[in-house]
Amino acid sequence: MQIFKFGGASVKDANGVKNVASVLQKTGYKNTLVVVSAMGKTTNALERVVKSYFDNKPELQSSLQEVKKFHNEILIDLFPNENHGVFKKINDFFSELNQFLASNKSPDYNFVYDQIIGFGELVSTTIISAYLNQIGLDNIWVDVRNHIKTDNYYRRANVNWEATQQLISSSFNTSVLNITQGFLGSDANNFTTTLGREGSDYTAAIYAYCLNAESVTIWKDVPGVLSADPRYFDNAQLLTNISYREAIELAFYGASVIHPKTLQPLQRKEIPLYVKSFLEPESMGTKISKNATLNPVVPCFIVKKNQILISISSLDFSYIVEENISEIFNLLHLYKMKVDVIQNSAISFSVCIDNIFDNLDKLLHHLKSKFKVVCNQNVSLYTIRHYNEMSINKIEANKTVLLKQLTPEIVQIVTA
Ligand code: ADP
Ligand code: ASP
Ligand code: MG
Repeated sequence: MQIFKFGGASVKDANGVKNVASVLQKTGYKNTLVVVSAMGKTTNALERVVKSYFDNKPELQSSLQEVKKFHNEILIDLFPNENHGVFKKINDFFSELNQFLASNKSPDYNFVYDQIIGFGELVSTTIISAYLNQIGLDNIWVDVRNHIKTDNYYRRANVNWEATQQLISSSFNTSVLNITQGFLGSDANNFTTTLGREGSDYTAAIYAYCLNAESVTIWKDVPGVLSADPRYFDNAQLLTNISYREAIELAFYGASVIHPKTLQPLQRKEIPLYVKSFLEPESMGTKISKNATLNPVVPCFIVKKNQILISISSLDFSYIVEENISEIFNLLHLYKMKVDVIQNSAISFSVCIDNIFDNLDKLLHHLKSKFKVVCNQNVSLYTIRHYNEMSINKIEANKTVLLKQLTPEIVQIVTA
């Protein structure tokens, strides 16, 4: 089995869908599972639907309309026959979504989020599966929610590996071309769950693990894993070979080309991960495998924008000791803050965090009742692996450094 994953950028319009077909034709698609994300920026658009459902009901229909219109244009382009069954299928999904919005009684934001957001992937895979069938790439549409079981930690659900393994082993047909949704799962009550933003790479890895796949390829709008995100850095170089360990580190510090959870299941079964360009499918891209030596060895830059740096000190200038740190971490955990860097000094404790769940106000309110708190918003966190003097200078030039931390392998710099 080989597993392919196509992300939102690869299927952002009708030409993208046609290109997926062309990649499959060039690479071969026997015994293949194709995992697909929502098209283009659909997940963001659906997040606006969730927001208007809770905070701005008058905008609800127009935010939904935007998602419908976007997909409708792609449908019209791909299916000249307007009686094609796919039109009804997509319509049915939107009716189901409307019905959910009209009847839902749950006030739980995260639960509602997952029920709404999941339609992005359901719709994209239905369109792609129908298109591939139309042009002769016979395939089966698989509902991933019948395979990947999770807990009910909505928006960042954890996989129930035992149940998932059992379902995949007993009901997956490995001899055909399968098309399924990334990012989604279902809980014990069969409600839709999601695995965390950008989680479709992880879906590919879950299947690979359970099917003992030969390889996973994630098809991207870049030639492979580069030494830096080309959106923010010039002269990013292609890394042709990377070890799992190196890739785990890069993903952990925020190299968004691979979802951080993707690598662990692959490493456990030593399944190689390829990162390749969907525009140049025959180029070699990056191979991530066991004990591979990094090639070439160059400083690797990672930037996370819009981070928050909080410095916490005691109200009476006493030391920040273990008890305070434990209390601070409990609050960070309570408000689901992703902690990027920590630094402790005699009277202050600094932490750089990612406010993924939009809980900053609540966290600050709680912290301020106990500590003196200084908060810098909108800071950038730079991480350089395999750094040298020149690479540090490059980052620090013309910026105010708020925090810096070095280990032999990495340097982390927080700038205003
Ligand atoms: P997908 O379509 O699969 O969701 P993403 O947009 O999440 O793809 O990932 C591809 C993007 O990741 C690239 O366009 C690039 O801007 C960004 N990126 C960040 N770090 C790196 C890196 N080290 N190498 C390559 N791309 C990177
Ligand atoms: N569609 C989801 C997102 O945009 C999952 C993914 O693309 O990996 O976060
Ligand atoms: Mg993505």
